[in-house]
Amino acid sequence: MIIALRPGTEKKLVDQVIAEVKKLGYQPHPILGEIQTVIAAIGDERAHASLEALATWPQVEAVLPVQRRYKLVAQEGRKVGTVVKAHGVTIGGTEPFRLMAGPCSVESEEQLLTTARAVKKAGATFLRGGAFKPRTSPYEFQGLGEKGLELLALAKKETGLGIVTEVLSEVHVDKVAAVADILQIGARNSQNFSLLKAAAASGRPILLKRGLSMKVEEWLLAAEYVMSAGNGQVILCERGIRTFETAVRNTLDLGAVALAKRESHLPVIVDPSQAAGRADLVIALSRAAVAVGADGLLVEVHPNPAEAKSDGQQQLDLEGIQKLVEEVTPFVKAAGRAG
Ligand code: PEP
Ligand code: MN
Repeated sequence: MIIALRPGTEKKLVDQVIAEVKKLGYQPHPILGEIQTVIAAIGDERAHASLEALATWPQVEAVLPVQRRYKLVAQEGRKVGTVVKAHGVTIGGTEPFRLMAGPCSVESEEQLLTTARAVKKAGATFLRGGAFKPRTSPYEFQGLGEKGLELLALAKKETGLGIVTEVLSEVHVDKVAAVADILQIGARNSQNFSLLKAAAASGRPILLKRGLSMKVEEWLLAAEYVMSAGNGQVILCERGIRTFETAVRNTLDLGAVALAKRESHLPVIVDPSQAAGRADLVIALSRAAVAVGADGLLVEVHPNPAEAKSDGQQQLDLEGIQKLVEEVTPFVKAAGRAG
């Protein structure tokens, strides 16, 4: 931490700050400038947040952190990225680019199984479908709940695909973890810290969406919650953020994908469906995701999007997912991430 004192602070007041820094367990290193003195406080900042309170002292101009607030999530010189393994499939590091796909909501046996077969044929390694749905309005379809989990288990048995599904509440963690190979934490819950800890404790890998208004640092700190709860198997998922732009549902923040890959060793995937909010942009955003260094995609697919109970406008149909794979594969090859 760097403590900058106000210009012209007299020695007696500088010494007071130095004494306090020592008292808090840091080594103070004062740097005496001609106009201003700064004190470098050496020690583990994460264990001594109390230093920040020095900002309230009249002779202190600013207290500036130098270390990152996330420790387990940070790249910190690691040469290889973390590889998450679920249902025998690896994601991240130098592993092949992965496709997770399926309906926004699990709606019926026929809808789910038809989709599961089609996404498997297209090359997806995970079936993603929501049983518990976080909907903006309480009057919208909330998902089939436990019945949806049963259908996901059936689809897994029939196709052999791993299952990704959202856990909406701490109350459901055990039931969801019994079926899901990866637990999705949705954008609206990504700073629900008690849910993050409960989901982490299930031992299942966690797919952590970025919240609608979440800074990259906050997203990484949410991942830190999972890792510090003893679960290192975290996949970050950028799904677009809320900006002034309303022409697309959300603004896909590709810079955040590149930054998260640089700042952290965790795999990062992109959900172009929630970002675009319209099916005709999904392929273009998917190619961009590959180009920027993402480790995989999470894409919404429905056999008949016009009749979907949620997010119909953004779901690809069964030919659409095949076309996506055809059009994205050359980019995956160029990125050296083909299977
Ligand atoms: C979803 O994946 O269907 C979903 C609700 O996503 P998000 O939490 O990113 O809005
Ligand atoms: Mn959706």
